Amino acid sequence: NGSKDCADKSLVDEKYHLKEQLGTGAFSEVRLAESKEKPGQLFAVKIIDKKALKGKEDSLENEIMILRKLTHPNIVQLLETFEDKNKVYLIMELVTGGELFDRIVEKGSYTEKDAAHLIRQVLEAVDYMHEQGVVHRDLKPENLLYYSPDKESKIMISDFGLSKMEDGGIMATACGTPGYVAPEVLAQKPYGKAIDVWSIGVISYILLCGYPPFYDENDVNLFAQILKGEFEFDSPYWDEISGSAKDFIKNLICVNVEKRFSCKQALAHPWISGNEASSKNIH
Ligand code: ADP
Ligand code: MG
Repeated sequence: NGSKDCADKSLVDEKYHLKEQLGTGAFSEVRLAESKEKPGQLFAVKIIDKKALKGKEDSLENEIMILRKLTHPNIVQLLETFEDKNKVYLIMELVTGGELFDRIVEKGSYTEKDAAHLIRQVLEAVDYMHEQGVVHRDLKPENLLYYSPDKESKIMISDFGLSKMEDGGIMATACGTPGYVAPEVLAQKPYGKAIDVWSIGVISYILLCGYPPFYDENDVNLFAQILKGEFEFDSPYWDEISGSAKDFIKNLICVNVEKRFSCKQALAHPWISGNEASSKNIH
């Protein structure tokens, strides 16, 4: 059933020495792992509690098979998987630069150049995933990890696909991170790849001004804002930001799914492709 390399826990312990915790999420723990075969080789292992999956182990396995096929410089590589009675272990490439979330908090906001460079990498990775038929569903700054502590480090997408497994489906996802969720998800309409583009729009907005486009302490009001796609480029925060950046964001945070950019269209936008000035002289 496609779980050839899902063996018992003793096999994880045979190959890896599990060390300190790197992070936690809704239904999992991520720990550092050192190869026993090659001491010094480090990995990240995501340990998922099967109880949290509530009988959805099969869809997790399907998802894992898809994820193992994804290979991209901006996607955290899934290397191998193990399982025992209570847990699933995902051995992943280790990244050491921390969450985008923490760098935003640290920096306040990004310059347009830095934001565009970062968003371009995210779009390239998500475009690749979409070509493989995979929708991330949970793009947010906590799930974007820097490869290294270096200032110039590339960004890596992590934690993909698995949100689908959460019990409660739509509402679980929406309540987890309402600020990034596309209106069609909240409206419980059928949804697809376009939900990732919406989230990338929200992330772009936050990078440029340091605060989210949709916010209300009350989730009902927040949902209403998102459903209408009501957001502003407030003065004075957005006064110095280019029209091109704003145009880019408006095409991503767009309620109409038909009109919302695809990743390819977003990649071709002058704010990302850098064809701003020169494009006028090409033809
Ligand atoms: P969840 O689905 O529970 O949110 P994530 O995959 O987002 O789990 O992982 C939770 C946290 O663990 C991340 O936000 C990050 O801080 C850390 N983490 C996840 N994957 C890695 C990795 N490959 N390398 C280093 N740290 C990681
Ligand atoms: Mg996460």
